[in-house]
Amino acid sequence: MPVNVKNIYCIGRNYPLHAKELNNAIPTSPFLFSKPTHALVEANGQSILLPGDRGEIHYELEFVVHVASRYEPGIKLEELIDLKALGIDFTLRDVQNDLKEKRYPWLLAKGFPNSAVLTKWTPFEGLETSMKYDFTLEKNGQEVQRGNIKDMLFNLPNLLEFCAKHFGLDQGDILFTGTPAGVGPVADGDYLVLKWNEEQHGDCKIKLI
Ligand code: ZN
Repeated sequence: MPVNVKNIYCIGRNYPLHAKELNNAIPTSPFLFSKPTHALVEANGQSILLPGDRGEIHYELEFVVHVASRYEPGIKLEELIDLKALGIDFTLRDVQNDLKEKRYPWLLAKGFPNSAVLTKWTPFEGLETSMKYDFTLEKNGQEVQRGNIKDMLFNLPNLLEFCAKHFGLDQGDILFTGTPAGVGPVADGDYLVLKWNEEQHGDCKIKLI
């Protein structure tokens, strides 16, 4: 399913347990950043190259949606969103901590090539159905993250409305909706599998360069 992506929006700290594990306050309004489209790569079993010279790189497994049409007030979620995928928001954690300290933007920690990994796209089945299933990340055969969008701090309709108001939201935009607890580092040679409802939707091997 070829998908042309325009803007990549990402939500930070949208699962309370994840905010806590990094000692961050739980936000009172959605907190966003974006990535360049050069960050995109599909996980279809190949090696993904990541920088090995900038400190720890953490995986952040996320539920991702694709926008089907221009946002209009009152638009139904099923009309606005046509596809879902799972994604990994790779983060240079040491760089990010340094940037946080300096009160600089996060782009250097979040926007490097291959930092936005996606599985294949599959049809979005609506909010109620999507909340019935967990999504998981396995590293070298061990489950390291398990999430369910029902645990989001700000739900999907609210996030989309917020994006539309502050940045604009139109066909081709995608939204990484935040990571559940369990983030951690990757090492050279790690093998990652992304699963939706216990079924594999994408996989990749990490190569640090
Ligand atoms: Zn994230």
